Amino acid sequence: MAEETETTGEVEDFDATQGQPCDVDGCDKAARFTYTWDWGQTGVCCEQHQVEFGQKSQTLKRNCQFVALNPGAEAPLERTERAQLKGECYALEMEITDYKNRNASLYEQNRQLAGQVQALTVREAESGAQLRDMRATVEKETKAADTYRRRNAEMVDELTRLRLLVSTEDTQPGAGSRLGPGELPPGTLPPE
Ligand SMILES: [Zn+2]
Repeated sequence: MAEETETTGEVEDFDATQGQPCDVDGCDKAARFTYTWDWGQTGVCCEQHQVEFGQKSQTLKRNCQFVALNPGAEAPLERTERAQLKGECYALEMEITDYKNRNASLYEQNRQLAGQVQALTVREAESGAQLRDMRATVEKETKAADTYRRRNAEMVDELTRLRLLVSTEDTQPGAGSRLGPGELPPGTLPPE
């Protein structure tokens, strides 16, 4: 009974942050496993006693099953883990700074592109107005050309009519006094 009281005392003194203590008498380490002997005895033990129980199991040729305690529960961070996490934290901070800079750069590019788009939109509006003007001009010129074409056709008709008239007069008597193409009237000097 005296031993049990001592054990209970150890349990009460045990650092709660370390979880359950190993239930082996005189061991104050944190329990990491539950163990179950094939004769029914169960409990919790530290890593060191898990090894010892394993050896005992082989010696006795009796089975002892171990199950890791709270595998998800975090053991207090070791110094190296803390250093590693600090390193990761620093790396992430650098990455964030990098992203911030790139974001600022992209913002500036975006601003410049928006300005260019605005300038192009204005230019496009101007071009559209010019295009409308040019279409109006082309339309006007086309109408004028049609008018000239029609007048030209009329003049060709007139010319044909006049040529016909001239050739008719040529065939009439007394037309011999008329000059052929390139002939000069008598007594006229040819041009230099
Ligand atoms: Zn132990």
